[in-house]
Amino acid sequence: MAAARNFRIGSALARPGKRVEGELVLGHYPDAPIATKVTIVSGTRPGPVLWVQGCIHGPEVGGVVAMLRLLERLDPRRMRGSIACIMLANPTAFRGYSRNTPVDTTNLNRVFPGAADGTHSQQNAHVLIETAASVADAVLDLHSGGDRSRVPYYGLYWAENSDASREAGRLARACGTRDIWASIDDWLGGAMFTVLTKRGIPSLIVECGGGGQVPEAHVANFVAAMTGVAQSMGILPGRPKRFARYRVFDESALIYSRKGGLFRPLVEPGDIVEKGHVLGEIVDLSGKVVERPRASIGPSYIASIRRPWMPVYSGDQIAECNRVIAS
Ligand SMILES: [Zn+2]
Repeated sequence: MAAARNFRIGSALARPGKRVEGELVLGHYPDAPIATKVTIVSGTRPGPVLWVQGCIHGPEVGGVVAMLRLLERLDPRRMRGSIACIMLANPTAFRGYSRNTPVDTTNLNRVFPGAADGTHSQQNAHVLIETAASVADAVLDLHSGGDRSRVPYYGLYWAENSDASREAGRLARACGTRDIWASIDDWLGGAMFTVLTKRGIPSLIVECGGGGQVPEAHVANFVAAMTGVAQSMGILPGRPKRFARYRVFDESALIYSRKGGLFRPLVEPGDIVEKGHVLGEIVDLSGKVVERPRASIGPSYIASIRRPWMPVYSGDQIAECNRVIAS
């Protein structure tokens, strides 16, 4: 376990009892570094390091707002160890307000562990994960539905038979939500939390909100998640809120459109539906319903749904339906 020593993230040098800021360089523009703001708050007493990051997908800014909110409240005198806030895991996607990295149109959270001599996204991933692995005892990656979709409030971790996975599952259950995705999905094999967990560092995602909006309730959920994880690790005082029962999901079916038009959802994020349940309607420009996408597994949890009246192409992701294994 990393003690609250004078560790470094880019130019931010952690110091006991202090809040420090700096930058971590993740790549280069033609004329300047591509860097993220890093803020580290360290307790007066030694303890573990929690790495929190936002905006690995550019439009998912709720986590960034929540980190700013949390940082206002942290008191080093009441902390053990450190909380490191990495504001922009993907700076160019933030600037471009784009889910995929604009430089190479890649989803950064599918290319981990990346490569030092790889493509732009692979290099960004490489610096991010190697830096996290060198300092963090746990990693919390904040996501939302961005501008296209809405998601419920849930914790997500990689479920395997390892100590890191079990610890990630414990931390996920301290995030202030009853909804837990214990993923076994191959398509998340290149996600940062998956690769870190397989390397022995407990890592998880918290999802909340989207639809192009960041209401206060969603900011509060992200703050609750960071606080609960930090309490579980002993960094912040107090005990995290825990529930008597959790709703748990394992594998996820991604539902894609076949037709194009305007999408009208008929389910809400977090609904549990049976196999074959109609998720919404795709309406063409004559006002005719041309498709009714359905849940392909059941009972399934609506982990993501396109926002109301979002225009869709054929082959756009309409929903994520997660198989319910406990409720
Ligand atoms: Zn995301």
